[in-house]
This record gives sequence, structure tokens and C-alpha cells, in this order.
Amino acid sequence: MEHYADQYIGGGWRPAAGPDTIVVLNPATEQPIATVPAGTAAEVDAAVAAARAAAPGWAASSREERLAALTRLRDGLAAHRAEIAATVTAELGTPAGFADAVQAGTPIAVASAYLDVLADYAFHEKVGNSTVYAEPAGVVAAITPWNYPLHLIVAKVVPALAAGCTVVLKPSEETPLIARLFARIVDGAGLPPGVFNLVTGLGPVVGAALAAHPGVDVVSFTGSTAVGRAIGESAGRGIKKVSLELGGKSASVVLPGADLARAVNVNLANVFANSGQTCTAWTRLLVHRDQYEEALAIAAASAAKYAPGDPADPATRVGPLVSARQRERVRECIDGALADGARLVAGGPGAPEGLERGYYVRPTVLADLPPDARAVQEEIFGPVLVVLPYDDEEHALALANGTEYGLAGAVWAGDEESAAAFARRMETGQVDINGGRFNPLAPFGGWKNSGVGRELGRHGLEEFLQTKSLQF
Ligand code: NAD
Repeated sequence: MEHYADQYIGGGWRPAAGPDTIVVLNPATEQPIATVPAGTAAEVDAAVAAARAAAPGWAASSREERLAALTRLRDGLAAHRAEIAATVTAELGTPAGFADAVQAGTPIAVASAYLDVLADYAFHEKVGNSTVYAEPAGVVAAITPWNYPLHLIVAKVVPALAAGCTVVLKPSEETPLIARLFARIVDGAGLPPGVFNLVTGLGPVVGAALAAHPGVDVVSFTGSTAVGRAIGESAGRGIKKVSLELGGKSASVVLPGADLARAVNVNLANVFANSGQTCTAWTRLLVHRDQYEEALAIAAASAAKYAPGDPADPATRVGPLVSARQRERVRECIDGALADGARLVAGGPGAPEGLERGYYVRPTVLADLPPDARAVQEEIFGPVLVVLPYDDEEHALALANGTEYGLAGAVWAGDEESAAAFARRMETGQVDINGGRFNPLAPFGGWKNSGVGRELGRHGLEEFLQTKSLQF
């Protein structure tokens, strides 16, 4: 077991300031695999000071210099692909195949997409007698969760650096090892000292100190809506730019005329991916009442293919959840849904057979819940799908829009035009039409309590820019 005792500040690894540590567990074995420093407010001060000192130089760097540095960083991610996937499997429990394809593959694709955005972005434009400049916004606090731990780091750090900002990263305490690997890759890319800094630690200590720090200009947060609210309040007090990527309870709407079997099968793959720990997961499947029983039968048969198992085994599709706490939360949600009258279509409470050790839950499909049931309204963040019947399109729309969230969604229809027309009426940030593919250039973010601001593509870069007009 490794005991790491340093933080990456000012271009090098510095001895940790305090004695406290965070124990990183492997969620499949429940065994400790490493310890990292539980950082202090003093380390946040040092990291912000390093980022501030580096800010003028990095802001003055040319587009070509930033492109060259970020290309080295992207190439470093690609060169470490196997180590990235193995690290995420070890500390998060993501099955090996998905860890390679998505946990390692997506950050490389996102970094490449940002290189394209940076290559073409117009940092100034003429507006009448003015020239309007997009300037680097300053020092960025990046605070990230554990579920896609490297993707969410890259989706903040790379555009911030591309914009000419400097960064202090506070990763999730559940997944600090991938953040340390990222810092090593940044170090290998040869960025100027202080342009990127990492402080591992607890949210209420390091995260709160960073979000409220007077030396921070932009707070970019991804995580739960509850913590997002606190971060938004603290950023508001400091008049900082803030972007909040929060929770979701996204609807997948199957309109009459759609390929029902495909819609249900893809929906299950979507909900059970990453063991259900996906903010954009389509956790509510809406089907016409005439097709409800048929959809449930397809879901029951499909769910049988998602037996949980050892995430290191390449054949495994569903691994454990990240922590004992998360497992208990999800099992309680399933129990609560059954108490609320849910019909169990697949899965259920309790440990999957033969998996008493490890933070496993059974991939679960629930039906017959009223629209106001907690399992229909609240983000569960585990492999749990709720199927709801609707009577007509207006009813489907009311159900789809009937939660506090608006992060993602799906529409399935016989033709793309009617699917798109329905999707345009959904109160949500992105909708996949008939299984449309992830696009790393498309803006990503939430409506309502799913957040403010956007990541990815041009919109993601602009979160880290400030506007200035010169009149002539
Ligand atoms: P979380 O809100 O508990 O933690 C997220 C980060 O915030 C962690 O680094 C944590 O240490 C830090 N934090 C906690 N308390 C803090 C405080 N008081 N001040 C500052 N920072 C603090 O979320 P999580 O459990 O790590 O992640 C799961 C949540 O993230 C889910 O709700 C999920 O939907 C959401 N999520 C959203 C997106 C998106 O893009 N919209 C993507 C992934 C995950």
C-alpha cells in the first residue's frame, strides 16, 4: 500500500502541511490501497498563491504556446491510458472494459476536442467602433466528484488552461489517485510552475476554503445539488464567476412508433453503465400505457444480462458502487420504493448473490410508482431504473419535465423530426435522439436544479473567459 504525503503546488510535489490522511479503499475488496494527504486551508492558500503568481505569464502566452502545451498534456493522457483505466478500476470499481473505453477514452477525446476549439477560437472581434476581447478570467478553482473522476477534471482543467487561466484542483476524496496521476501527467507536459496545482482533501475543509478564497476568480464545480448550492452562495458572496454541474433525474421518452426493444435495451445499458453512477443517466423510462407491460418484459429479460461482478474481470459489466455509504443510500432507496408500492421488475434490495464483500447492489428495475414517489423524483445515483406509463404526448411531457432537475434525456420515435420536436419542449440541457452519440464538442450542462453554466466545446471554453471592450 502506498502512503503519499505530498501535494502538487507551484510546479512540484511539496510535503503535506498537516498529519491527516485520507484512506483510499478498493470498493470491490473493501481493502485500503493507498493514503493521501487530507489537505489544509494553509495548502489552499499556498496553491492559490502559486496560481496567482503564474497567472500573468500564462495569460500572456500565445495561442501556439498553449496549443503546444495542451497537445503534450493530451499525448500524456493517451500514453498513460492503461494506467488511467487501472487506477479508476482500483479506486472507483469501474469495470475494466468501461474504464478503458470511457474513463480513459473520454478524457483523451475531450482534450483533443478542446485543442480544436482553441485552434479556431476568435479571442477578439470588431463590434462597430469597438474591439471586444475575450480575456483569461484569472485563477480557477476546480472542484470535482468521483463518478467520472478524470473526465470531469479534464473537462475543467483543459479549457481553463486553454483560456489562459491558472488552476487549483480539489478532486473528490473518494478518487484522489487518478487526480495524482493527472498531476504527474501535467508535470510531464512541462507547463510553467503554478499554472496547475493539486490539493487533495475533504470537501468541507479544502473545497470550502478554495471556493471562498479571495484569490480565486472562477469556481467550476461538479457534484451534488446540495453542495452546489453552498458553493454558489459562497461564490456569490465573493462575486466570482461560477459554473455548477449538478445532479439529474433524466427522462427517456419512448414515443409510439419507436423501436421499443432497442429503446429499452439501450436505456438499461445507459442506466447500468458505471454501476449507475452517471449524472446524465436516463433513470426514468417513459412508455405509452399500451406498451407498458411489453416494455417491462423486455426490461426484465435485459436486466438479467447485468449480473454484477469483479470489476477487474474484462467480462464484467456492472461493478460495485464507490463506497459503503453510497451502497447503503442506494439500497435504502430501493427499500423505500418497495414501501411506496413499487413492483420489482428486476433486482431488489440486498447484496447480489455471492457478493457479500464489496459495495455491490443489484441492478434494479421498478414499476408502478406514482410520479411523486421519492424514487421517481430524487437522484438515486445507483443502478436503478424507474419505468412510468403515460397516456398521451402532453402527459409524457409533463412527466418528463416533472422533477427539479434538467440535465439530460432521450427521445425515441419513428422519425427524427417528431423526436426533435418533442425534445425541444423538454426542460433539459441535452437530449439524445434515437440513441445519438456523445459529442465532445457539444455544450453540456443543466437546467433548473441541475446547474448553471456549460462544459465542453466553445461554450465550455467561454466559462473561463472575461469580456472587455475597447472603443476607438
Ligand atoms: P459531492 O457534491 O458530495 O462532492 C463533489 C465535490 O465537492 C467533492 O470534491 C467534494 O469533496 C466537494 N465538496 C463537498 N462538500 C463541499 C463543500 N462544503 N465545499 C466545497 N466543496 C465540497 O458529489 P459526489 O458525491 O462526489 O458526486 C456525485 C454527484 O455529482 C451526483 O449528484 C451527480 O449527479 C453529480 N454529478 C454531476 C455531473 C454534471 O456534470 N452535472 C457530473 C458528475 C456528477
